[in-house]
Amino acid sequence: MSNKPLTFTITKQLTGTLARTGIIKTPHGDIKTPAFIVGGTQATVKTLSPEQVTQLGGQSILVNSYHLMLRPGVELIHKAGGIHRFMNFHGPFFSDSGGFQVFSLGMAYKKGIDITSHSKKGDAAQAINTKSQLTKVDDDGVHFRSHLDGSKLFITPEMSMDFQHKIGADIHMCFDELISPLASRENIKKATDRTHIWAKRCLDRHNQLNIQHIACGEDVQALYGVVQGGRQEDLRKGSAEYLGKCDFDGYGIGGVFEPEEISSTVKWVNDILPINKPRHLLGMGSQPADLFLGVEYGIDTFDCVAPTRQARNGALFTHSGRINIKNSCFAQDFSPIDVECDCYTCKNFTRAYIRHLFMANEILGLTLASIHNERFVVGTVDKIRDSITDSSFFEYKKSFLEKYYGVDRACDFESSGQK
Ligand SMILES: [Zn+2]
Repeated sequence: MSNKPLTFTITKQLTGTLARTGIIKTPHGDIKTPAFIVGGTQATVKTLSPEQVTQLGGQSILVNSYHLMLRPGVELIHKAGGIHRFMNFHGPFFSDSGGFQVFSLGMAYKKGIDITSHSKKGDAAQAINTKSQLTKVDDDGVHFRSHLDGSKLFITPEMSMDFQHKIGADIHMCFDELISPLASRENIKKATDRTHIWAKRCLDRHNQLNIQHIACGEDVQALYGVVQGGRQEDLRKGSAEYLGKCDFDGYGIGGVFEPEEISSTVKWVNDILPINKPRHLLGMGSQPADLFLGVEYGIDTFDCVAPTRQARNGALFTHSGRINIKNSCFAQDFSPIDVECDCYTCKNFTRAYIRHLFMANEILGLTLASIHNERFVVGTVDKIRDSITDSSFFEYKKSFLEKYYGVDRACDFESSGQK
């Protein structure tokens, strides 16, 4: 049993930038940062066993309380002994508050729209702009409909904390009001102010629940405040200042939709948030460049379901750019997906074989592709971590991006601090 939910130690700060390496210690083990947190939305990393997640280097998994609240229900997970036992993954877990899904999926059931399947994150912002107008928010909480069966539901910040504690992840997120960056400034301000009031309510409820855990001899759990404020500089900075003064274990940064926002929004926020607390970028984009930019501007952990989703569509990362394994040019290609990759798939199988599995709709193809894509992203962040340690971050960033995007496009991701 641990009475300490989380400690964070910075092991190296990269001079002249916000990039750092560190260790997040939780009751279920350590996370070396920067780290990519593997997406396990519905209490599963799609097509992968927990052993495969560990083998590919995954240190931690993020589950989503909105999905788990609807199915199978948080009581059942609690009865099973919590998420670690339910999933049989015994490393650290993050849980998302469900705020994002309430606003993005909550009203989508009629058309079966899943905004996360849009190819561009700008489309996601537009979809939230449309749907958040249909979701009813008041000071108490959010009224919405289940995307599974259309049933009417209501969730408050306190309920979100109750759900997350029952799920039993190591690190929780405050329930926030997500608003599209396309909304009016007045509405973004209103949502940000409400997010702050809800953050205090989440913290109060969270502290009560931790007292109960201690009384029962159970591990205590950690809570991150979630910074919002759209693309408005003063609102973002105000949100970071307000939440930074509250006693959270760390911070999530929500509502970042485009890679270009990392060098502005994420920097504004991380210049202000307490240095000694970890920062998580919630639901980052699917571009490898986002990993480099995020770390450079002070992000310690990321999560994203894109690597496995893209893998299931046959879109596979390689160090020379992304390929579609279903293309006929790979029919007789007996090389691995990526010669530079050290994953189980690349060590043992060829492009021709994986293409065959996809063409024949064989399930193994999805698993092999997911192992590769997940390893590619996890491994890239591991190398970024090493490059901070030996101060070669900018050299690594330049060589990776030039190879992945080509020399011309790589320039788009340069920063003022880059040599
Ligand atoms: Zn591989």
